[in-house]
Amino acid sequence: MIDTHIHIGQFKDRYYDPLEVLTTVFEAGIKEAFFSSITASDTATFTYSAIEREISEVLSALGTSSDRAKPLLWYVPEYAKQGINIEKAFKNLPYCGFKIHPLENKWDLSDKNTVAIANEIFEYAQQNNLFVLIHTGNSGVDAANKFNDFFRKYSRVKFALAHARPLAQAIDMLSKYPNVCVDTAFLSLESLNEIINAGFASRILLGSDFPVTQYFHHQISKEWRTLKKQYEEDAKQMKLYNEIIKRS
Ligand SMILES: [Zn+2]
Repeated sequence: MIDTHIHIGQFKDRYYDPLEVLTTVFEAGIKEAFFSSITASDTATFTYSAIEREISEVLSALGTSSDRAKPLLWYVPEYAKQGINIEKAFKNLPYCGFKIHPLENKWDLSDKNTVAIANEIFEYAQQNNLFVLIHTGNSGVDAANKFNDFFRKYSRVKFALAHARPLAQAIDMLSKYPNVCVDTAFLSLESLNEIINAGFASRILLGSDFPVTQYFHHQISKEWRTLKKQYEEDAKQMKLYNEIIKRS
């Protein structure tokens, strides 16, 4: 199995040690993990160079397993103002694509500069066959159709709508754009079945959002699972979903 949605780094008040996270994932039998540093969501505290260091250190520490770890560049509009050059970033690290979080990082597409940044990223992704993971949600600013025009314009980029929210809109994007997928992170079984019933089983990627799953498990239950225990649960769900997808 491949997990397309893993995070390392600072999430709210917890620091998820990159090596511990990825080792936990690989020890659970996952073949490849696409991961991004959630540290990037706090641009006020952390600079891009801190994130670059974090990823480069974990790739070295992983040794021979490092080719199973596929980093995504968590891109924040502020990086453009800070002069972070995309090509240079991809030269320094073996990034496989981008992660975009329109809610945390204020992707305001009514702003001309932000639209220009989006075009630059997606153009780069198109030219280099890269994957783009986009967070979606029900807040209104992170809806599944937010980047609709770009899905059409950059038709060779493989976009994944994390969480597939709002569901009806995510399904609408799947029906309009063959280059759009969804992932299973925090996706209910009901939603999974709706996507399958709409005819898009082959466009569902398995993604866990680990270790954010541990954080939210604690919020609900007040219990801190170990990372190992949490990922066992996450992998169990992905495995179940994978069987349901295959059976359909
Ligand atoms: Zn995530």
